[in-house]
Amino acid sequence: MAPTPKYEHYDAVFIGGGSGGVGGSRRAASYGKKIALIERSEHTGGTCVNVGCVPKKIMWHAADIADKIRHATDYQFLDVPEAKFNWKTFKPQRDAYIRRLNGIYDNNLERDGVDYYHGVATVISPTEVEVTQKDGSKLTFKTDKVIVTTGGRPTVPSDDKIPGASLGINSDGFFDLEDQPKRVGVVGAGYIAVELAGVLHTLGSEVHMFIRGQTVLRTFDSTIQETLTPWMEKTGIVFHKGHQVTKVEGAKGQPLTITTDKGDVVEVDCLLWAIGRHANTEGLGLEKLGVKLDEKGDVIVNDYQESGVKGIYALGDVSGRALLTPVAIAAGRRLSNRLFGPEKFKDDKLNYENIPTVVFSHPTIGTVGLTEKEAREKYGDAVKIYKSSFRPLYFSMLREEHKEPSVHKLVCVGPEERVVGIHIIGLGSDEIMQGFGVAVKMGATKADLDDTVAIHPTSAEGPDTRSLTHADAGTQETEKQIHADESTLHDGSPDAFHENLSLEKDAAGEVAETHADAVPDGGLRAWLVVVGGAFGAFATFGYVNAWGIFQAYYEETVMPTTSPSTIAWIGSIEYALIFIPGLVTGRLFDMGYLKLPVTVAAALLIMSTFLTAECKEYWQFLLCQGILAGLMCGIIFGPMMGVITQWFDKKRGMALGAIAGGSSIGGTIFPIAARHLIQEVGFKWTMRILGFIQLFALTITCLTVDRRVPPGNISKKFFDFGIFKNRAYCTFCIANLVSFLGLYTVLTYIDVSAVYAGLDPNFTYYLVAIANAASGFGRLAGGYYADRFGPLNIMIPSTTIAAALTYAWPFAKTKAGYIVIAILYGLFSGVYVSLLMAPIMAMGNRHNVGMMTGVSQTILAAGAIAGPPISGAINASTGGFQSVGYYAGSMVIVSVGFIIVTRQLVLKGSLYGKA
Ligand SMILES: Cc1cc2nc3c(=O)[nH]c(=O)nc-3n(C[C@H](O)[C@H](O)[C@H](O)COP(=O)(O)OP(=O)(O)OC[C@H]3O[C@@H](n4cnc5c(N)ncnc54)[C@H](O)[C@@H]3O)c2cc1C
Repeated sequence: MAPTPKYEHYDAVFIGGGSGGVGGSRRAASYGKKIALIERSEHTGGTCVNVGCVPKKIMWHAADIADKIRHATDYQFLDVPEAKFNWKTFKPQRDAYIRRLNGIYDNNLERDGVDYYHGVATVISPTEVEVTQKDGSKLTFKTDKVIVTTGGRPTVPSDDKIPGASLGINSDGFFDLEDQPKRVGVVGAGYIAVELAGVLHTLGSEVHMFIRGQTVLRTFDSTIQETLTPWMEKTGIVFHKGHQVTKVEGAKGQPLTITTDKGDVVEVDCLLWAIGRHANTEGLGLEKLGVKLDEKGDVIVNDYQESGVKGIYALGDVSGRALLTPVAIAAGRRLSNRLFGPEKFKDDKLNYENIPTVVFSHPTIGTVGLTEKEAREKYGDAVKIYKSSFRPLYFSMLREEHKEPSVHKLVCVGPEERVVGIHIIGLGSDEIMQGFGVAVKMGATKADLDDTVAIHPTSAEGPDTRSLTHADAGTQETEKQIHADESTLHDGSPDAFHENLSLEKDAAGEVAETHADAVPDGGLRAWLVVVGGAFGAFATFGYVNAWGIFQAYYEETVMPTTSPSTIAWIGSIEYALIFIPGLVTGRLFDMGYLKLPVTVAAALLIMSTFLTAECKEYWQFLLCQGILAGLMCGIIFGPMMGVITQWFDKKRGMALGAIAGGSSIGGTIFPIAARHLIQEVGFKWTMRILGFIQLFALTITCLTVDRRVPPGNISKKFFDFGIFKNRAYCTFCIANLVSFLGLYTVLTYIDVSAVYAGLDPNFTYYLVAIANAASGFGRLAGGYYADRFGPLNIMIPSTTIAAALTYAWPFAKTKAGYIVIAILYGLFSGVYVSLLMAPIMAMGNRHNVGMMTGVSQTILAAGAIAGPPISGAINASTGGFQSVGYYAGSMVIVSVGFIIVTRQLVLKGSLYGKA
């Protein structure tokens, strides 16, 4: 490095040794000019080489290999190891390659005769540049031209704006990470956010993306946005859509807690800001010289990179147009051509139209020209869209969950159908886009593309417009325009053409699925899951609800010498176990296990029912009916709720209501059936018949209930205490616990209290069945209205009414009074029960919804176990039911208070809103 400028006067000084500076200076020097290049960092090459395209693409390759390893078993490779990536050892290897590149850049500059200086440059005048060197000494360069190529840097919000923001890193920091973070929060929806999130996720990190809108890549064509976003979700990246980060807590190197404006609280090991970039213009002294900057700090230049101040030029990222390496290089070279090259270049400039670009997402995206929206704004009704989707052959051997979408879109204009935009997402789009860029640049028409024989079988033949579907201005894709000409197809083989058609058909289904934003919210398959869930709830809850009948029978016949309270333990344990395993089953669900545990539990539940028929001793009943049946019911019932999140979103309340309706029907049918059957066919055959009913119902459950998407990269920890950082969730868990201390009191004692009031036991026995039947209506209606107004908004009034009825119930004296109470109580408590998990599903995400609902069930189990005995004790000590009503009603009303607080936390204090 020269201690003083080599020349007293330079033809041009380039400030910034990145893509634009290096490209432009070398071209200028090649014309024999005296050129200086100033770079402030230790390494030449700028963003692209050091913290941009190159290390990013290397990381993308690593991630791509991880994907391929996962695919290998589907191609019948044996003993394929798990794709375990060693970030720690890979980083130095990657850095060493970058250092080699830096050396190559230095050598190239030297070879081409560019004088390279290390230091921070300031423009003193259009003919003077001052450079502050590392040791503080200054050099002044005299020059004819100053060419500003200082690039840009990542934007990070200030701690004043978002407290704790500086605890996060940016894309530069990503490349400094010595080890792979296990849990990462990525803020931003631009291409850098998408690429880095994709790399981290594919290499095995749990990734949360916080985006302000509903899709990523908002400046790209809508088809790209709508295809990539759900696919990323489907692969397991957790999206916090419409969320803005409001604070970050923690300490550097420690787990960080991210809070959003919508109340999400997420713990991560690394927070990555990828919210945009801004120009490096501070301290350059440009404004003092009259150079105009825009509001972002970018230098405003004309098509010739002229700043408006004679002798000062700017190009590359610092000029804010098309922030891409080849753009900076091309702009630099063309400017040097024009300023220092031969006559033929006197007008040379970069044309910024139709610049092809690629996003290294998973799958990649290639795009060139106008988006559909831009084209419609520019050309109105003259725009025609051709869109197609297909499944590249590579995926034909892979499991459904690995089949990436491929969508190709042509934006054409005018009667000649000039192609003004091509947008491709899918395998190989990164490599094929260069060729399509040439075609668009040359003004190709759709007919030109049609005339080009496709290369088969490749992804590049996708946009072959023979297989594209025409979507006319503003309408859905309707008309199929397949200009099939066998003579233009691969070797003239007619088979190839048919193959092409069937590929397209295959892909149509694929894309429809992908476009469904990952949650179908209806359709035969989704409703079949609901049917299966309802049968599951029927066979489990219904059976458990018949306990009262068995209690009476055991007291009278099987165990007359055992005390009623000892016998009651069998029922209590059975009932409690429906909820208690939630903690485990919920986590298993998050980890991807559903069918296996449910099927095994179904078999064991049926077995336990048949075994109960053979029981004679107390301990045998306790084991078979109390513990085994209860546990199996819990393992089956828990996931029936959780799985709904994968199939329903807007109609989730309806779906949950329908499943809860299954338990109501079971709760009505099982007790009546058990009571009558015991009298008619005896206990043994009653149990066997109930076992067959369960066999039928649970077969439907096992055949229909399934996950829709595989689990994401969930945390290895079995339990994540982070869920308790969500205040709304904690409050709602307390609400459920408290409500269950009182909620089942009416159903447990309505029969006994009616007898106590002097009514006929043959009538009073039906009150529970009446309440259960009414509850079925409440559950369905609750679900319907919850979808429209939000579950918490519906739970608050209905649970308040249930509380009022709990207070009122002991005052009923007549048959009519009891029937009214039973119907109304069943109706309104049914609304509450059906929506029990709905608010939590909205609070959780794909990685933890199972755990969150499961933990909540385990917590409420404590209330369900303790509630009826407390009520029983109050009844025993007061000799009546009024105090029982006061106690239970108060519990339910207190729980309403907690539900109201939950609602306010969800709505962030706002009075109005869907919650
Ligand atoms: C994560 C990431 C991934 C990317 N991936 C791609 C990709 O795949 N494809 C693609 O085409 N583009 C990609 N880019 C964009 C690409 O890196 C930039 O567009 C390109 O580097 C811009 O070149 P430039 O010369 O304008 O600026 P830079 O490359 O940023 O170079 C500017 C140089 O100026 C120096 N400098 C600044 N101020 C001064 C000063 N006062 N004195 C002296 N020196 C100074 C800086 O140190 C820097 O070295 C990516 C960027 C990022 C951040």
